[in-house]
Amino acid sequence: MCGIIGYTGTRSVLPILLEGLSTLEYRGYDSAGVAVHQNGLQTVKSKGRLALLEEKLQARAHLEAATCGIGHTRWATHGEPSDQNSHPHGTDRLALVHNGIIENYLEIAAFLVEQGYTFSSQTDTESAAKLLDYHYAKSGDPQEAIFKTLAMLRGSYALGICFADYPERIYAVRKDNPLIVAKTPTGALIASDVPAVLAHTNTYWRPEEGVLAVLEKDAVRFFKSSGEEVSQKQECVDWNVAQAQKGGFPHFMLKEIHEEPTAISQTASAYMKDGLPHFNLELLDTDRLKEFRAIHIVACGTAMHAGLIGKSVIEQLCRVPVSVEIASEFRYRDPILHEQDLVILLSQSGETADTLAALRHAKANGVHTLAIVNVIGSTVAREADSVLYTLAGPEIAVASTKAYSVQCTLLYLLALRLGLVNGKLSAQTVREICEKLRVQVPAAVEEVLKSCDKVRAAAEKVVDAEHMFYIGRGVDCALCTEASLKLKEISYIHSEAYAAGELKHGTISLVVDGTPVVALSTVSSVAEKMLSGIREVASRGAKILCVTTKQISEQYDLPADIHLVLPEIDELLAPFPAICVMQLLAYYVSALKGLDVDKPRNLAKSVTVE
Ligand code: GLU
Repeated sequence: MCGIIGYTGTRSVLPILLEGLSTLEYRGYDSAGVAVHQNGLQTVKSKGRLALLEEKLQARAHLEAATCGIGHTRWATHGEPSDQNSHPHGTDRLALVHNGIIENYLEIAAFLVEQGYTFSSQTDTESAAKLLDYHYAKSGDPQEAIFKTLAMLRGSYALGICFADYPERIYAVRKDNPLIVAKTPTGALIASDVPAVLAHTNTYWRPEEGVLAVLEKDAVRFFKSSGEEVSQKQECVDWNVAQAQKGGFPHFMLKEIHEEPTAISQTASAYMKDGLPHFNLELLDTDRLKEFRAIHIVACGTAMHAGLIGKSVIEQLCRVPVSVEIASEFRYRDPILHEQDLVILLSQSGETADTLAALRHAKANGVHTLAIVNVIGSTVAREADSVLYTLAGPEIAVASTKAYSVQCTLLYLLALRLGLVNGKLSAQTVREICEKLRVQVPAAVEEVLKSCDKVRAAAEKVVDAEHMFYIGRGVDCALCTEASLKLKEISYIHSEAYAAGELKHGTISLVVDGTPVVALSTVSSVAEKMLSGIREVASRGAKILCVTTKQISEQYDLPADIHLVLPEIDELLAPFPAICVMQLLAYYVSALKGLDVDKPRNLAKSVTVE
């Protein structure tokens, strides 16, 4: 949540800040602001999208000469989106941008009011900025003032700071929120996320928590609170700028759905050796894996839905019990954990606050933790006992698509490995499924993409709906949860995912003439039962959109108003083309409604607050 950018160097800073903010806008977009050094600190901020800030900056042409500054795109947690609440916050002496939540901000504000400070925003951030001013006014030493301030803050933060007295310097520090630092040929940068620095470099540091980064145009240095200078590990991504751009697609979401075949095949190939799953991890590549008595998959949102697919496939193939837990609940409900359990954390960004807290909770309980994340070196990746990276490349659209598919890919591979070591699957069977995962799945998803016009036509038939239902059985029920979330996120149509057999126990009362019901049927063993469920809603006037495998479509006479048939694929692997259809359906509904597909209201990517 929230995007932070900062640059000091020899180039004009404003274009760099604005370009960085536009790359980071997916993290928050209710307001934006910058502070640059130009005869003191000049702060310009605006409620609303970045374009409004750009308009304001056009009237401040003299700022073009500035070469050092910080910027922010906000996802409000404290105080409505407004000019006043936008970041940067500060005083004549300093400007500060913040990602996160200062939990004791009222306490700090009360202390500062006693010292004569006044406040002009409702944000928690202003307390941190003014507390820093208080310490800086006393010591005149930025570093000392920052560490004294941090010692008084409770909560989470990534901070970017400029002091008026140091016109070529930026300070940055983080706790429980993401922040990276990079050196470029012309200067140095801070940013919330890798895509914002890709136009300049693909190497960066992710400072350890509490380590202060001091950026000048020629050097980046890191300091501990003791004052000791420390080195930080430099990381490198093989992503490039083009991957973080739309590449001719009208929206990032559509581009990212089209990247699924490649992302799936790359992720599958990366974790196979001699045709079998291979992870380069002692934990997973040896018989130790079979010692786990139960698996808990812990995640939020779309990643949690990928966990449901993982549960289905692991339990089916390996007969090992899997629970799927919402991360924000897991940590507070005192889960029953056993030292022979495995906790798997799923997160695209690797910075999701609730998932990180759940990871720490599991570790504190002595349970082995395995992270499946997309961003190399992210906090979840670094803190987990073992880590597997999904190879989705950067995902920019707020609604996650390809990250979900590759999380599923890795969970399938994990299930296959586990089935192999605990003797539930033969090497021959595993090899065959692996090959299909690597080749047949990407091809099937590609085929869905080629016939996306059919999905668009289906979207046209439901675009005016106020409510929708998604029904399925078995793994289809798990897929429906994600299909329904996708629709809600970006089209603002209320929808619910239901186990097809459960609908009649209450919720069917909401089905009236014309209510769209998306019926997903890929599991042949329950296809007949599914058909009964479809007939039940059809009898009540529902508009039925069936999505089925070819085999089921040939075997049953489905009462469908619209029927989309998936490309031919092994039944075990049908979730991959099926979810692609569902993602496209949500996409087209949103696009047809003329909504901002990539930046849906109230949402932000990478939820780094609890
Ligand atoms: N808590 C701060 C605010 O509401 C920062 C939010 C953010 O991370 O964008 O202003």
